[in-house]
Amino acid sequence: MADKVVKFGGSSLADANQFRKVADIIKSDAKRRYVVPSAPGKRFSDDIKITDMLYKCCELAGSGIDFSEEFKIIKDRYNGIISELGIDMSLENEFSEIASELRSRPAKDFAASRGEYLNGKVLAAYLGFNFVDAADVIVFDTKGNLLLDQTVKAVRDRLKGLDNAVIPGFYGRTTEGFIKTFSRGGSDVTGSIIANAVRADIYENWTDVSGFLVADPRIVEDPDVIEVITYRELRELAYMGASVLHEDAIFPVRSAGIPINIRNTNRPQDDGTLIVSDDYDFSRESLNRTITGIAGKKGFSSINIEKAMMNNEAGFGMKVLKVLYDNGLSFEHMPSGIDTMSITLSTEKLAPVREKVLADLRKAVDPDHLEIEDGLAILAVVGRRMKNTRGTVARIFASMAHARINVKLIDQGSSELNVIIGVSEHDLPEAIRRIYDMFINSEK
Ligand code: ASP
Repeated sequence: MADKVVKFGGSSLADANQFRKVADIIKSDAKRRYVVPSAPGKRFSDDIKITDMLYKCCELAGSGIDFSEEFKIIKDRYNGIISELGIDMSLENEFSEIASELRSRPAKDFAASRGEYLNGKVLAAYLGFNFVDAADVIVFDTKGNLLLDQTVKAVRDRLKGLDNAVIPGFYGRTTEGFIKTFSRGGSDVTGSIIANAVRADIYENWTDVSGFLVADPRIVEDPDVIEVITYRELRELAYMGASVLHEDAIFPVRSAGIPINIRNTNRPQDDGTLIVSDDYDFSRESLNRTITGIAGKKGFSSINIEKAMMNNEAGFGMKVLKVLYDNGLSFEHMPSGIDTMSITLSTEKLAPVREKVLADLRKAVDPDHLEIEDGLAILAVVGRRMKNTRGTVARIFASMAHARINVKLIDQGSSELNVIIGVSEHDLPEAIRRIYDMFINSEK
């Protein structure tokens, strides 16, 4: 029987009621043997996450200020959960150890990690599972880089012979013995590492949404959930700002061929989104949509360069790109014509060197015309099926034409996994809605 690794995010463990839902989910499937919890998150929108309160305590301790008032709020939250669930345990010893460590050596990562550490203890006691401290199994080098091979070995050794385990997310220990955390949201990474180490069947990532949505719900009303998405498609969409999962959580499971299932703790009846490799058997999917998702991002500028016969001038492109390189700029797209070249890049990154880039370009290639156009948005239409479907691009442009939206840039990667179009920022929401209508509503 292959196992499932289940990770629960902060909102899934924000209070006693959420703990009950989590326990029900775990107990409803015997394969859910390895559990990775986050620290208690927000219970309502103005609430403060335990992790943020711990950072605050550490900051106060670092300035030699008494943090007992803030620390009491943290203790009260754990104690509230323990008493409401009727668990026979006390965290008083842990609380005093943490407080005294913070007073004598206020280290940020140590402080932040205690949210997951304490929550792991509570959850393990509530479930009747073994508690395995992440500090004993997740290994970082002295610079704070994860040592995956060593970690996998340590996890396997430690879990050997255990029927189940709760392993707190977000942190581990360096080879020098210091507690080290991943970046924010890093419990996702811990779950992925544990799934790799135990060769899980699946890595279930339980959160407060029923998976990835085809489009941003602030733009499209009640968009559909993506049923299956490949890692490559996810990367394209995540790059455009659609994110539910920590970026570094992909690699450990992807390299081991383990799918990730994004699930909703508040709606366990939903299947969520399955993230798979390219070799997945897609015939198992119920929907066969042409496109998987649509995402857009504002805040781009285009440097437009015109020069007669530019395409005959050897090294023209190189000189232009060298100017960008010398000014520390990376670019997103570079469509070019016979006498024109335009470079799309972030307005914000361009801002500090804007005038210098223009001057350098004039010097480097002596253009006939040079300008910067601001207020651009980039929209990505992503889908693995586009490659084998004729007419996708025609449908995208038909929907833009009907909406009278001017397309300023077109780019289709050689993988044919996405079509990128550039539009004015103010056209972006309507462009997304039209494409959603064209592909999702009309394929229903
Ligand atoms: N508790 C940490 C954070 O708030 C890590 C996590 O939740 O994944 O970032």
